[in-house]
Amino acid sequence: REKNASEPEFLQAVTEVLNSLRPVIDANEEVYRREALLERLCEPDRQFKFRVPWVDDKGQVQVNTGYRVQFNNSIGPYKGGLRLHPSVNIGIIKFLGFEQIFKNSLTGLPIGGGKGGSDFDPKGKSDREVMAFCQSFMTELCKYIGADTDVPAGDIGTGAREIGYMFGQYKKIRGLYEGVLTGKGLSYGGSLARTEATGYGLLYLTEEMLKCNGHDIKGKTVCVSGSGNVAIYATQKAQQLGAKVVTVSDSTGWVYDPEGIDVALLKEVKEVKRARLTEYAAARPSAEYHEGRGVWSIKCDVALPCATQNELLLDDAKQLVANGCIAVAEGANMPTTLEATEYLQKNNVLFAPGKAANAGGVATSALEMSQNSERLSWTFEEVDAKLQNIMVNIFHNLDDAAKRYNMEGDYVAGANIAGFEKVADAMLAQGVC
Ligand code: NDP
Repeated sequence: REKNASEPEFLQAVTEVLNSLRPVIDANEEVYRREALLERLCEPDRQFKFRVPWVDDKGQVQVNTGYRVQFNNSIGPYKGGLRLHPSVNIGIIKFLGFEQIFKNSLTGLPIGGGKGGSDFDPKGKSDREVMAFCQSFMTELCKYIGADTDVPAGDIGTGAREIGYMFGQYKKIRGLYEGVLTGKGLSYGGSLARTEATGYGLLYLTEEMLKCNGHDIKGKTVCVSGSGNVAIYATQKAQQLGAKVVTVSDSTGWVYDPEGIDVALLKEVKEVKRARLTEYAAARPSAEYHEGRGVWSIKCDVALPCATQNELLLDDAKQLVANGCIAVAEGANMPTTLEATEYLQKNNVLFAPGKAANAGGVATSALEMSQNSERLSWTFEEVDAKLQNIMVNIFHNLDDAAKRYNMEGDYVAGANIAGFEKVADAMLAQGVC
């Protein structure tokens, strides 16, 4: 704790994982202690921090900080996204990289855990400025990554445009055409259904969790937060499955649309115009726009936090419970605080943690790696069917793990245990390294 005192998000993630692993740790205490397994698990294999200088449209040089944390490659090459947001620091990248180890393990695919990013803010920058930043970022990052070593992807602020610029620079410097990044455009090695995968996967898992607890997603009212990649496709799939999504948000405000969010309009505003939600509300007579936060005050059956970490607080959890919410599934990484999670679980709200519920994105990224390796492209339907199968399996794996340790219905513990067991086995088998 002292060593990482300046990294609260990292401590929060480690605390949550280790607390819920208690029964597994107790059952294997002697071996884990002798092998210092937990100490090794909580210390990244290595972390890079680097300068990213670039020239803005006025000819002024700007300097940002870049990060890549390679956390654990026991079960496969490091894999995890690149976050571009002014709030990025080493503690946030470490928390995300740590979570990624278990998430990637849960997918059942051979991928290790890593994460990276920069405090660069793509918002309000011209295309040329974004390209200048991405090229400079990759000029340094390319020294540490490769198709069989470390395969970054998108995250907050890093979409297809940024991945394209980074891939171009990697290719130019390294002279290699390989699947070093996922989330690529379809014309140069991207996978169909990757764009939709995290949001769709979230709904496939939520649907299964509800079904196994005697509920049907059809006819449910859903609150979604965020209005980025995860939120948009979660909204789309929820509506395809017969639910009604009534909210979305961004970092300045939120929309309540009792008629149900118009996905085509949301995509136009967010993906095409890259505009704010005020434009959605202006174009949609049934929608109300509110400044600040407030999504969780709306009555719903299912809540899907899809924006960022620590956006669903204890008071929000109380409000959700008071309004009769039956399930919360995390589209974002660690959107629910520890206290809020505990409150929801104690009040019998089904709770699917992000490392399971949003694993569809990285799972489909691993499918993109497979397609790149065999130099083939699968159809949308093939990828979507594999994704659905993976998400249903993830739910049953974590459900089974919770039951094995007499914690039935505790999907947080189940996800941590199921993700951890495979990584721990691999680390022990590979010796002290
Ligand atoms: P995007 O950048 O596409 O969208 C992020 C959304 O969250 C935007 O609506 C943004 O609003 C909002 N947001 C960001 N920061 C804040 C904040 N501090 N307060 C309130 N709202 C905020 O990112 P993604 O949709 O890709 O990612 C969302 C979450 O899902 C992240 O936690 C990410 O790590 C996680 N995730 C994403 C995956 C993916 O495949 N994309 C895979 C697995 C997890 P604004 O536009 O105003 O900034």
